[in-house]
Amino acid sequence: MTDKLKPEVPELIACDICLEEIPSTAAQSMESDDYVYHFCGIHCYEQWQQQSKQQKKEDVD
Ligand SMILES: [Zn+2]
Repeated sequence: MTDKLKPEVPELIACDICLEEIPSTAAQSMESDDYVYHFCGIHCYEQWQQQSKQQKKEDVD
């Protein structure tokens, strides 16, 4: 039994902000502190930037 040729399904990854699943090919990614963040779009990316800025401020004692 042979399977029909499957269309290539892109790997799904979750947006780090809204947790929506997106194809990895369509994701925006950003490497930070040895971790690669993925975003479904520029809005989530901007949100993450703001959050990380705030976190950095809180880190400074
Ligand atoms: Zn998102």
